[in-house]
Amino acid sequence: MSTTSHTTADAFERRLSDHPRSDAERAALTAEPAFGVVFTDHMARMTWTVEAGWGERRVEPYGPLLVDPAAAVLHYGQEIFEGLKVYRHADGSLWSFRPWANAARFAASARRLALPELPADDFLGSIEALVAVDGAWVPSAEETSLYLRPFMFASEAFLGVRPARRVDYLLIASPVGPYFAGGVKPVSIWVSEDYHRAGPGGTGAAKCGGNYAASLLPQQEAYSHGCEQVCFLDAATGSLLEELGGMNVMVVQRDGTVVTPALSGTILEGVTRDSVLTLLREGGHEVVERDLPLAEVLDGLRTGAITEVFACGTAAVVTPIGRLAGEGFDLAVNGGQTGAVTAAVRHQLTAIQYGRAADPHGWMHRLA
Ligand SMILES: *Cc1c(COP(=O)(O)O)cnc(C)c1O
Repeated sequence: MSTTSHTTADAFERRLSDHPRSDAERAALTAEPAFGVVFTDHMARMTWTVEAGWGERRVEPYGPLLVDPAAAVLHYGQEIFEGLKVYRHADGSLWSFRPWANAARFAASARRLALPELPADDFLGSIEALVAVDGAWVPSAEETSLYLRPFMFASEAFLGVRPARRVDYLLIASPVGPYFAGGVKPVSIWVSEDYHRAGPGGTGAAKCGGNYAASLLPQQEAYSHGCEQVCFLDAATGSLLEELGGMNVMVVQRDGTVVTPALSGTILEGVTRDSVLTLLREGGHEVVERDLPLAEVLDGLRTGAITEVFACGTAAVVTPIGRLAGEGFDLAVNGGQTGAVTAAVRHQLTAIQYGRAADPHGWMHRLA
């Protein structure tokens, strides 16, 4: 448990909705929420200008924004975002998982996109202020949570190409159910050789909307090959596994060693990735971050030297990969079943997040 106390939440002025959903409406909306469809009654926001810096801290009713048609984000995509969750523990308390890591990554993404850094206290403060008002929206059923989406964009009305002099930060929240209705099931992956997600010196390590825009067409290519997700190779050589559109990837060898692509500057540094690596290391697995050639993975799957492959990220936690396909190959992983290492680390991580296991690393931050 963190003992850090933040008072920045109090700096957010509260303008409460005069038409919040009733308890019955909220119960119905949070009963079986699909991902990112339902939003809570309020949102938190701040505005930055080059003259005044960050200000106008507010929690206000959730609703459409008034955005100038010349706002730079609509033309040049100067935008970043984050994703983290609020978990309800059995005693009703509300917790987030390593929010400081998301605050630090948000600042790093801001630097890459020439956006102003949001101080970590404001990042945390906006979360605390929104959850103080909308905490009842955190669902309590198994594997449910309140997904938080902090984001920042260039709102200055100006068509010249330079960093915007006015930027808006917003935090919205969406109750979400288990990512996979009916339990965790292995997904199929298409390895794209036609498209890349990121290149050397590009924005691959930043969490920006543009990366996702670039992944949509390859994602459609994956669907057209009967696969659910796309996996990207490095742009420089086209031979190394990088990551999925929104999840990091790991392979488990027969001897228990876990290999994941090293953070090369083109891979997003996942909080889940880092947490999973820590838990595996502590569980006695050798953990290796290095280049991971596709050829080595295909070979390992054929010979049995690689026994499991999984993806990890906040939304779906740890997701087994049951099939790896691409131009000229289509291989089952672990007979299409969830592997033991994958299942164990998923179980371990969710037990910490939902307060069913001790938190020796101080990863959990109490919000209410
Ligand atoms: C957000 C994201 C991840 C996962 O990061 P987490 O912090 O674990 O949620 C992985 N890859 C990409 C491209 C992402 O945008």
